[in-house]
Amino acid sequence: MSGAILDASRAALLDRSVEICIVGSGCGGATAAQVLAEAGHEVLVLEEGSDRTGRALTQRDAAMYDALYMDRGGRATDDLAISVMQGRALGGGGVINAADVVPIPDGVLAHWERRFGLGEMTRALGPYRERALADLRASRIDESQVNEANRLLRAGAQALGWRGEVMMHNRRNCGGLGTCLIGCPLDAKQGPRFVAIPAALSAGANFVLRARAVRIEGATQATKTVVCRVLDSAGHHEQGEVRIRAQHVIVAASAVSSAQLLLRSGVGNEHVGQHLMLQPQLPLVARFAQPVRAFRGIPQSFAITEFEQEAHPEHGLWGFRIEAVMGTPGIVGSLLPFVGAKGPQMMAEYDHIAAALLLIPDAPSGRVSVLPSGRVRVDYTARPDLLERARAAVRAGAKAYLAAGAVEVLVPVVPPIVIRSLADLEEVDALDLRPATAPLLSAHQQGTLRFAASPRDGALDLGGRVHGTTGVYVFDSSGFPSSASSHTMTPILTVSRYLADRLVASLT
Ligand SMILES: Cc1cc2nc3c(=O)[nH]c(=O)nc-3n(C[C@H](O)[C@H](O)[C@H](O)COP(=O)(O)OP(=O)(O)OC[C@H]3O[C@@H](n4cnc5c(N)ncnc54)[C@H](O)[C@@H]3O)c2cc1C
Ligand code: SF4
Repeated sequence: MSGAILDASRAALLDRSVEICIVGSGCGGATAAQVLAEAGHEVLVLEEGSDRTGRALTQRDAAMYDALYMDRGGRATDDLAISVMQGRALGGGGVINAADVVPIPDGVLAHWERRFGLGEMTRALGPYRERALADLRASRIDESQVNEANRLLRAGAQALGWRGEVMMHNRRNCGGLGTCLIGCPLDAKQGPRFVAIPAALSAGANFVLRARAVRIEGATQATKTVVCRVLDSAGHHEQGEVRIRAQHVIVAASAVSSAQLLLRSGVGNEHVGQHLMLQPQLPLVARFAQPVRAFRGIPQSFAITEFEQEAHPEHGLWGFRIEAVMGTPGIVGSLLPFVGAKGPQMMAEYDHIAAALLLIPDAPSGRVSVLPSGRVRVDYTARPDLLERARAAVRAGAKAYLAAGAVEVLVPVVPPIVIRSLADLEEVDALDLRPATAPLLSAHQQGTLRFAASPRDGALDLGGRVHGTTGVYVFDSSGFPSSASSHTMTPILTVSRYLADRLVASLT
């Protein structure tokens, strides 16, 4: 019998018992729900977001941030230095992400085996990487869909002889509306919402919306209780409490929220919440004399990969990567470091600007903790190597845009750095990443509950079980001991399906 989607803010959600309770319906949770339901297990998924598809994704910045992002888009590190972005919807980050598909590179898997002793897992992941591509209906972006802004970045890279690629994505029938980061009204993105969730529903899994898990009780007992607060229909206020009893609990709330839930529950060892990686991204803006209209078409299709290292001996994925990107007027306006007349002047040039994100893989540099209110706190101290690579990435990005004919390149920091010629590149020495001076973004949080065979070295065993519990698992990027990829959706699908298959095998 098919499962159902229940909105707890509108229909009564009662205490109940299930075999498997999953927290979070994003890339990790939806994949696990599909695998376990298809194997005949009784699955209930708790999701604190709402379900929005098609026309309900209105392309309006403020309303969509409110509806689709965790903490209404306002989650950040404690010092406000880095915006920590995470989806909050049925389908999780798959609803608001840029649809880039980048599997875990071989070099990273070799690093995890050599450095962290995860060989038992990494040797099995090959077919799961392939399966993730099939699950995402992934394909290479067609040349006809590479817009002018992406072509300009590519032209600059080619002029300099640098390596780059048109990326893979998980879109089908994309109309090029350009608002991927606030949801696709054409439902073109083939993420969990349109693949794993329908499959899980067909196999009998049930999903409950506006249901926030706040505590797991009895983590060492045969039956665990997930204490859950029902939210109002806007998702702003908690208004009731329900208890879900389950034999197995899978947490897949994304790296920050998964650690938050375990910490609120007092579950797991001293590694819980540690080793956080945010993989910070710094925007770069280029102004051209001619119209670019970067807001038309797929925002992110070309990446400069010249400076990316996939097998760094100490860190695995390292170096940096430069990807074209474009935001809605609201996103761009909020990132430009100008006040007064200069702000509107720059926005008047909106159709003449192209932008890039400088993606910088990081070593573990932060931690997640929980305030007495239960709210999450994210602390992060950028290591000196991050600043060095950020400066190198800015110089490289600026060179590429200048080679493509940009009039000027703006590093949107306070005070702004403006580069009009190669001679201006020395201005980049002034770049520091002091809190509240640089619009650093994190979309790829990882590592708060690292996998390790021994509880001495990490929070999860190689089957994703929280060390010290008898049936509490985490199936998302929390387990990654170093950056899995420049983009985390595909790695999470890969690892979640592998872990779910292992769990199915252990239950039969
Ligand atoms: C703006 C943006 C752009 C991105 N672009 C790309 C891209 O192009 N390619 C790529 O590979 N990756 C991209 N990512 C990253 C990718 O989307 C995420 O890594 C991925 O979605 C994480 O999957 P997950 O299952 O761990 O968590 P999520 O997909 O975030 O899902 C977790 C779900 O759990 C819910 N939840 C959290 N806490 C609770 C709780 N206590 N109770 C109930 N529910 C809870 C949340 O509401 C959420 O829906 C992007 C991310 C962002 C934010
Ligand atoms: S660019 Fe394509 S995938 Fe993105 S919002 Fe527009 S139609 Fe949807």
